[in-house]
Amino acid sequence: MSMHELVSVSRRYGKDRRYVVAGGGNTSYKTQAELFIKASGSALDSIDEGGFVNMDRRRLSAIWAASYPADEDQRESAVLADLMASRYPGQDDKRPSVETLLHDALPFAFVVHTHPALVNGIGCSLRGQDAARELFGDECLWIPSTNPGYILSKTVRDAYAAHTDRTGKGPSFILLQNHGIFVAADSVAGIDAIYARVMDAIAKKVTRQPDFNSLPAERLAALEPAVQAVRAELAVLCGSPADTSADKVPAICHATDPELLRLTASSQAFASVARPFTPDHIVYAGSDFLYAESGGEALARAYAGFVSRLGRKPKLAALKGLGVFGIGEGGNEKSARLATELFRDAATIAAYTEAFGGAKPMSQDQIDFINNWEVERYRSKVSTK
Ligand SMILES: [Zn+2]
Repeated sequence: MSMHELVSVSRRYGKDRRYVVAGGGNTSYKTQAELFIKASGSALDSIDEGGFVNMDRRRLSAIWAASYPADEDQRESAVLADLMASRYPGQDDKRPSVETLLHDALPFAFVVHTHPALVNGIGCSLRGQDAARELFGDECLWIPSTNPGYILSKTVRDAYAAHTDRTGKGPSFILLQNHGIFVAADSVAGIDAIYARVMDAIAKKVTRQPDFNSLPAERLAALEPAVQAVRAELAVLCGSPADTSADKVPAICHATDPELLRLTASSQAFASVARPFTPDHIVYAGSDFLYAESGGEALARAYAGFVSRLGRKPKLAALKGLGVFGIGEGGNEKSARLATELFRDAATIAAYTEAFGGAKPMSQDQIDFINNWEVERYRSKVSTK
């Protein structure tokens, strides 16, 4: 029964774009002995029982008691090895979510973790912490930006205990700066009630909705020649020049609307979305975008500058007056589309942050951590297949 509830609550939140973009987020159900946690890379919207990993909670509690190397890379790979060893037998093809320990730490049967743009409107804003306190008081546990993995789980576990000591009861939900929200309850109805309250309260404070309406047909038709030209140029620039076989030509996905045109109107306008807000933005759209004033010479120059500065190809290009282009390496249509979807998510968050003092993107340290993190590369690889 409870697995059935877990699958259905996962799909329901997974299908709702207000909560989940690109299959991000994860869910779990636990008993005394077992934790069923979403496998890394499976998408919530279509998950079934096979999409969860069954973990032995006694082994997870040994991870809490163990000590790990101070070096980030050594620590995360040691913890990952212990997590893999905490799976019940017969699940060798599944990797538990990177947030498994955090799910284990929350003392409720159900946990639904998502990255809603509304919540991130607070969580990625300059006044975020104050705004969360004003809106929710002690109901909310605010966790400052923390690198994901073991450290985040430990930080939340310690902060949860301190909050409980101070206030006499646990928080209803946890707001992770530059990341998202964890909601835990003993029933699905309890999860829904908390989410509804949080989303309502933030929605009432938001001062501007992004304008993702379609452009008028004549406007789109007028842009089309320039869009086609940039598509072709990007395919050549981002493809591998020595090999023009179909699978080496990148997939290009163009997106435009009034909001994207406003953001790409100038490099100043683009600044509010030029830096990533959350790890998901980095995983799917890249930590840095290519911005060019026009196609042709300007695009080629911007591309060369990008590659020499960062040593890799962009996943998303923004062109003044045209909107954005997702770039899927090796012809991957899905990753090209996801790059534009995550960019729209960032644009939504940026609009919401206006009510809370303006945008606060991730720090360079945090960006570097995600760019170097093997776990996130695994997630991106599995979910864009
Ligand atoms: Zn997350």
